This record gives sequence, C-alpha cells and structure tokens, in this order.
Amino acid sequence: MEPVAVIGAGPAALAAAEVVAEAGLPVVVYEQMHSRGRKLLMAGLGGLNITHSEPRELFIARYAEWAPELTPIIEHFTPDDLRDWCARLGEGTFVGSSGRVFPDSFKASPLLRAWLTLLEQLGVKLHNRQRWTGWDDSGALRFEAGGGQEVSQQASATVLGLGGATWPRLGSTGAWKTALAERGVTLSPFAPSNCGFEVDWTPHLLQQAEGKPVKNVGFHFGKHSTRGEAVVTRRRIEGGAVYALSAAIRDALAQDAGPQTLRLDLLPQWTEAEIEARLSRAAAKARRKDSLGNRLRKALNLDPVQRALFFEGQASGTGEMQPQDLAAALKSVRLSVLRPFGMERAISSDGGVAWEAVDSDLQIRALPTVYAAGEMLDWEAPTGGYLLQACIATGRWVGKAVVRQIQG
Ligand SMILES: Cc1cc2nc3c(=O)[nH]c(=O)nc-3n(C[C@H](O)[C@H](O)[C@H](O)COP(=O)(O)OP(=O)(O)OC[C@H]3O[C@@H](n4cnc5c(N)ncnc54)[C@H](O)[C@@H]3O)c2cc1C
Repeated sequence: MEPVAVIGAGPAALAAAEVVAEAGLPVVVYEQMHSRGRKLLMAGLGGLNITHSEPRELFIARYAEWAPELTPIIEHFTPDDLRDWCARLGEGTFVGSSGRVFPDSFKASPLLRAWLTLLEQLGVKLHNRQRWTGWDDSGALRFEAGGGQEVSQQASATVLGLGGATWPRLGSTGAWKTALAERGVTLSPFAPSNCGFEVDWTPHLLQQAEGKPVKNVGFHFGKHSTRGEAVVTRRRIEGGAVYALSAAIRDALAQDAGPQTLRLDLLPQWTEAEIEARLSRAAAKARRKDSLGNRLRKALNLDPVQRALFFEGQASGTGEMQPQDLAAALKSVRLSVLRPFGMERAISSDGGVAWEAVDSDLQIRALPTVYAAGEMLDWEAPTGGYLLQACIATGRWVGKAVVRQIQG
C-alpha cells in the first residue's frame, strides 16, 4: 500500500500524522526546512500558550465568523483533550492568571521532542529538506530535495499542513498557494493577523518610550476594546493588547486608505470623576512652577511612557487644561496608526484555503484524497492559545478522515 503523505512538520501536520499512524497506516512526513516545528519552537520562546481554560462557549466565540466551521472540530478535540494529550507526552500544563494554558516547562521544545519520539515509535518516517512543489502528470506528489534533485511519490492520501504566510524564515512562506491555485482550489488572499501597526512617532515620544512597554492601558478601536500591554518600537506599536484589536484595525485600514485612530485609556482602573478628583486634590498642593508632566506623575503616578503617550496624543496642545478636561483626555488619547506591520513579523495570517474549497472532512473538493489542516485554512483567531488549539484539532480531524477513507 502507498503511504499517507503528510506535508509540513508543524503542529497541524504532526497531529494528523499521529492519528493516521496510530491506526496502523504507513505515514511519511515531508518538511522543507532542515528541522521540524520551527514556528512552534518560536512560539515557545516567550511561553507556549497552547490553549485556554475559559468556558467552551466563550472559547469558540474567539473564532468569530469561522466558529461555525471550527466548532465540531474543537468539540472533537477540546482544550481539555489537548491538555490530556500534553500530559501523555510527559508535559503537564498549568493555567496562568489570565486563564491561558501553558506547558509546565513554559517552552515548546520538550513537547516537540516527546512528540517526534512518539511519531518515530509509531513508525512514521520523517524527511527534512523535501519541498513539495505540486503534482506530476501521473498524479504523484513532486518534491525538490536539498540538492535541487526532484523526487516523485505516490500516496494513498495526502495531508497538507503547510502553515500560513508569516515568519517565512521559519518555513511558513505561503508559496504553496501556486500549486493549489493551478488545480482550481479557491484561495482567500493572505493578510497579517495578530500584528503590530506602523506609527509615525515624534522624536520626543521615541526618546521617552522606544523599546519600552506600555503597561495596563485600555485600547479601544470602534466597538472593540481590550486592556493589557503593548510595546513602542521605532516605527510601530505592537504586543498582546494591539494584536487583540488587529483584525478590526487591519480591515478598517484596508477599506479606508487613510490612517485609523486607536484610543488609549491610560488609567483604565479609574473613572473620569476619580481622576478629576485626584488632579484637583493635587492641584491644591502643587507648586506654581510644576510642569504638567510633573503634576501627572505626582497626582496619578503616570510613568514616563504613559506621559509621553499622553502628550503625543494632544494634537491641539495641553494649554491650561483644567482637571475635568485632563481627566477626559487621559482616558481617550488618540493614536494614529498607518498600516499593519508586514507578514514577516505577524504572529499569524488570515486567508488561505477557502472553506468552500473543502468538505466537512477538510478534504479539498477539487483534489479528492488531499486534505488541508492548520493555519493554511482561511480562519483567524486572537492570541491566547486559540491558534495552536485549532491547528492541532484540525490536524487530528483530518487524520481521522484519512483513516476512514482508507479503512472504510
Ligand atoms: C512569534 C510567534 C509566537 C506564537 N505564539 C503562539 C502561542 O503562544 N500560542 C498559539 O496558539 N500560537 C502561537 N503562534 C502561532 C502558531 O505557532 C501557529 O499558528 C502554528 O504554528 C501554525 O501551525 P501549522 O502546523 O498550521 O503551520 P506551521 O507551524 O507554520 O508549519 C507549517 C510547516 O510546513 C512547512 N512547509 C511549508 N511549505 C512547505 C512545502 N512546500 N514543502 C514542505 N514543507 C512545507 C513549513 O516549513 C512548516 O514547517 C505563534 C507564532 C509566532 C510566529
């Protein structure tokens, strides 16, 4: 019997390989890079947030317009199943204060090592430096090996787990689109997701804030709000709180060519009235020559980054602002964002194989016995563990479908 070809060695593809191999079928994994799971390892550098512990309904809602497609798949391999699976690989998990779930080691490498060992024990053959380029005239899969030589391989079924189109240096280049488009597969354009945005900062802001975190700030864009951390870099603002709003900001920028305004609440822990009261009390005690910056520091404990952002957002100057106006301004600092910061640094991508191009098994309609899993499918989700949960769940879902296809 021809083996099942699994292409890509990211979490989605490896999850499919595991399920197919557990059913006793021969599996070969082809990866174009010289090592496996590079994006997964990168994800683990800042703490691998593998899933989330929130109630199921809330969890599913994070997939927004893609929830209907992903619900049965996640119900079939839930966040709890994912945690049990980690434990079976010898890596327990814990729930962080935000409800996010992490492996005990916090990293991806022990989990990936144990996973690859398990796959080898199950008889899966793993080949690196094999870049899939499409199909030859006989319908065999075509690969370009490290030295440029071409190899063909027939397969009883093919799983594509080729990733999205961000961080191309880790292998997720999105170049696979050409081979699928040539076969008539409907694809949605890629766009960065969970990304930072370019900002034209003033030299004063950069002097005070470049490379520094913006802590515990409320971020508002249209009807979307979040609270958390961001980082100011030379040409952009990025970080978890910005990523959470990034899909809405990106879509607004795409619709309306002009910059978009993000509103920052520098003191989300207090109401306007509380801020005004603090400012008024401090004003009574203030020395005449105290600068506004100094007054904000003393009355409200604003750090230098928050103060710099406040002044950056006051287009018409601060003049003789009274406590009431100051309080309102501190809770609604305007930040003009110009464009998303490119695919090369976005956490994930939107776009890819359209849902109408696959059936409920995630089999590509135009290519029977070829399945797609993971980020290469057209869905997006915020950070918080939702990406890996959906990648692994879709990989396992496809693995089961392949077993059904072959074993009947
Ligand atoms: C910095 C960073 C931090 C992240 N942190 C988190 C996090 O904490 N939690 C979370 O849930 N998600 C996180 N993510 C996102 C998560 O890592 C991805 O969503 C996930 O890895 C996607 O899995 P995948 O298997 O679909 O694709 P990938 O992991 O991208 O794997 C695809 C694989 O296919 C290979 N490939 C592509 N084309 C070919 C070809 N033609 N031939 C052969 N092989 C090919 C690639 O080389 C790659 O190895 C993070 C991402 C980044 C960049």
